[in-house]
Amino acid sequence: MTGIKKFLENIYKRILELKRNDEYKKCLNCDCYFGLLYYMKEELQKNEDLISKEMLSNILSAFNKRKEVKIYQCLGCDPCPPAEWTTELIRKSKTRR
Ligand SMILES: [Zn+2]
Ligand SMILES: [Zn+2]
Repeated sequence: MTGIKKFLENIYKRILELKRNDEYKKCLNCDCYFGLLYYMKEELQKNEDLISKEMLSNILSAFNKRKEVKIYQCLGCDPCPPAEWTTELIRKSKTRR
């Protein structure tokens, strides 16, 4: 349980770093990123602690913007960080418990 929590915090931090990275900023409008947000919110909703709740509200507000921003298909960045993290997250959430 704690394992996934740490992991979510970690991804969250990496998302913030991505926003400051000129090369990968574009990944924050690709559908991989919104897929990642979706899985993150699913996982965060299971947690009751303050940090998780705070992350959840930030993730939700980013996720809800998907109707306003122009989301494009993956630009084929290799690797596309959000896509990789989604894969890791799904793997982690399956192996817990
Ligand atoms: Zn990308
Ligand atoms: Zn992508």
